[in-house]
Amino acid sequence: MTAIAFFGIGNMGAGMARNLIKAGHSVKVFDLDTAKAEAIEGATVAVDGEAAVSGVDVVITMLPGGKAVLGLYRDIIFELSEKDALFIDCSTIDVETARTLAAEAKSRGFAMLDAPVSGGVTGADAGTLAFMVGGTEEAFARAQPLFDIMGAKAVLAGAAGAGQGIKICNNMMLAIQMISVAEGFVLAENLGLEPEKLFEVSSAASGQCWSLTTYCPVAGVGPKTSADNDFKPGFATALMRKDLGLAMEAAEAAGAVVPFGRAARDVYEKMMIDGQGDLDFSSVIKRVRAAVPEKA
Ligand code: NAD
Repeated sequence: MTAIAFFGIGNMGAGMARNLIKAGHSVKVFDLDTAKAEAIEGATVAVDGEAAVSGVDVVITMLPGGKAVLGLYRDIIFELSEKDALFIDCSTIDVETARTLAAEAKSRGFAMLDAPVSGGVTGADAGTLAFMVGGTEEAFARAQPLFDIMGAKAVLAGAAGAGQGIKICNNMMLAIQMISVAEGFVLAENLGLEPEKLFEVSSAASGQCWSLTTYCPVAGVGPKTSADNDFKPGFATALMRKDLGLAMEAAEAAGAVVPFGRAARDVYEKMMIDGQGDLDFSSVIKRVRAAVPEKA
């Protein structure tokens, strides 16, 4: 049994913490919103950050963004954790902050991993997340039994920051692919073609991708998706927009040219301005359908 502190009991953190408890670990939970922490049966609710990290071997964080993560580690976790504690940040944040935090942890004698996830709230609840991890092999080996409980796959992607790097590359590809699938279906609609036929052919042809076969943005086509549920997230447009912002920052810092990623960022940004931020990102098809025709 491992003694774990879990910070951030939101949409994702709640399921992850529950799965750790179910597997027999001792979990202390802390969230700025106490009601969220209290809703986790079998957990000890910590009154503050200090109480959460006291006496634990592993600290896991699942917070909204880089600012919150930086503040929590610098103010509480680095200062008050037990000697030899392992830190695992599962939030999606920028590569630079992840590297800075790992270096600060190391200088204080702690091991730290960046371990963002893919798989959404369903994956968090079911314990089938995919973890993309940055850090040392030794720290990864210590964390592996916990990844195995919360997820179906964990890949050590490289040194500190590599997990965040892979996460934003993946999500930039996803963002572009969802727009491509939406445009394919809207063109088919305008040509008077059956969407089911496009799905049947492309899901076994060269247009195949996850946005088509697993997450088709057309209601009634393929497996049940957010499109069948009025685009309730799922993965909200606002979170996709956040990840594309991180991808653009990383591209600029690394000197990579990503024009389609940038164009996708602009599309999701406009969706937010038009009030689609809380809808699933696959609702981009509404925007494609509503676009005014241009000359080829
Ligand atoms: P959320 O907003 O539901 O949960 C975040 C929680 O952190 C909130 O309950 C908030 O009160 C708490 N919090 C903020 N600062 C805190 C602090 N200093 N101490 C303790 N608690 C604090 O967000 P979420 O959907 O659970 O996402 C969490 C992270 O996972 C984000 O970085 C997101 O990008 C990433 N992610 C989300 C999904 C998804 O589908 N929701 C998928 C993959 C990755």
